[in-house]
Amino acid sequence: MRSGFGETSEAIFLTQGYVYDNAAQAESRFVKAAHDEFTYSRYGNPTVSMFETRIAEMQGTEDAFATASGMAAVNAALFSTLKAGDHVVSARALFGSCRYIVEDILPRFAVDVTLVDGVSSEQWEAAVKPHTKAVFLESVSNPTLEVIDLQYVSELAHGVGATVFVDNALPSPLFFPAPELGADVTVYSATKHIDGQGRCLGGVVLGSRDYIRDTLETYVKHTGGSMSAFNAWILLKGLETLSLRCNAQADTAEHLANKLKNHPKLRRTIYPLLSTHPQYELAKKQMSRGGTVLSIDIDGGRDAAFRFLDALKIARISNNFGDAKSLVTHPATTTHQRLTPAQRDELGISNGLVRISAGLEDTEDLMDDVAQALDMI
Ligand SMILES: *Cc1c(COP(=O)(O)O)cnc(C)c1O
Repeated sequence: MRSGFGETSEAIFLTQGYVYDNAAQAESRFVKAAHDEFTYSRYGNPTVSMFETRIAEMQGTEDAFATASGMAAVNAALFSTLKAGDHVVSARALFGSCRYIVEDILPRFAVDVTLVDGVSSEQWEAAVKPHTKAVFLESVSNPTLEVIDLQYVSELAHGVGATVFVDNALPSPLFFPAPELGADVTVYSATKHIDGQGRCLGGVVLGSRDYIRDTLETYVKHTGGSMSAFNAWILLKGLETLSLRCNAQADTAEHLANKLKNHPKLRRTIYPLLSTHPQYELAKKQMSRGGTVLSIDIDGGRDAAFRFLDALKIARISNNFGDAKSLVTHPATTTHQRLTPAQRDELGISNGLVRISAGLEDTEDLMDDVAQALDMI
């Protein structure tokens, strides 16, 4: 969308509010604002709207709503839909804050939550009941990269009239077509691949026009988790290079996974499109590529993992993924520290597990860096 100046790059509309030509125009906009009419930037903003339109078109959903962060998106998606007495079934391998929402916050509001092992069809089948209102899952889990059979779970959930919510952040908007495989509502942390250069937070919820405008938007505009115009502008620019970046990063992740799969210092190398992955066939069916992230389980536990991290020269220790810079994470002591050792065991998060998010550095340089750091253990 261009202003009257015909600018090449989209404009940033850094404005809180909007003025009206006359009182009647203000009145009519409050009754019903058209897509390109705005009243207040917590409700909507032209730059934010450009980001929403672009990502909805890329994902093939009717509409999208942008939020201040990925967690604002997850929160809004669930809380705009659920009420006391509802039953939710959720996979238990979740990003820490998502798990906090389903395990700690929802029950406080009398929402009944059943956690299941997301890769077990039997557990989904036993947990989804005629009164189940929603199911929630991460398409590819973090950091053990388990792949969920979304088509199966969606059919099961739709059979009882439940809404399927998918947090699709880990595989990026490119490699796991959640809306096509049955997700009614798809959520992204735009902080990850969509920005992809470590600058700003953002989130987005995608779904049908009715759900986005009647349910989700109403909730967010009154509770305040809207995206800022400045962040929307950065993320809009991110979408222009998303495919180039993610494909280049996936090339590197795939290369690393193949090179590391028989490494003597590793107990295992996890990457969805590696033939040794436990859901390899399913991953091949659902994913166009294996993604930008791989995990390695280093023999020797925490000490060996720390020596590896500390010896890296290119890849940096951080807790993010999807960035143009390669980032490595030790989940057991950082992102998943809050869980008990038993809960971590249940999720396969061992003390030697390291997550590697491949960036845009030269593939061979990064491979050499990982190899020399493994030698240093
Ligand atoms: C990072 C992440 C989030 C939260 O996103 P923020 O933008 O940090 O709020 C939610 N889910 C998954 C799977 C994530 O990786």
